[in-house]
Amino acid sequence: MMRLGHSGIRWLNFLTMILHHTWILKMDSKLYEIMNILSEECAEVVQAVSKCNRFGLDNIKPGKPLTNAQHLEGEIGDLLAMVDLLQLKGIVTSEGLEAAKLAKVEKLKKWSNIYE
Ligand SMILES: [Mg+2]
Repeated sequence: MMRLGHSGIRWLNFLTMILHHTWILKMDSKLYEIMNILSEECAEVVQAVSKCNRFGLDNIKPGKPLTNAQHLEGEIGDLLAMVDLLQLKGIVTSEGLEAAKLAKVEKLKKWSNIYE
């Protein structure tokens, strides 16, 4: 295997950066923003799930108006709003999403205890 020296690695990093920036410029800037916010909302859902598991669904964080379950609901709503935008942009389709949901349910029936 060819070994890269320090300058070779720097050169590769530089090329990777240029390719990445070229890709972002080619991507519609609104789509790029949607993708970033989608990613943030996914992280917020993860955090809300963790709070439900750690402190309980009905727990209310001091100084906050919502239970953890209600907060989770809000974050899933935020996420769904981003999914709607991806549909409007033509990146995903309701048919594709529905097919993925059905396939997931089948996997859960096979590999989880949820439907038992
Ligand atoms: Mg949010």
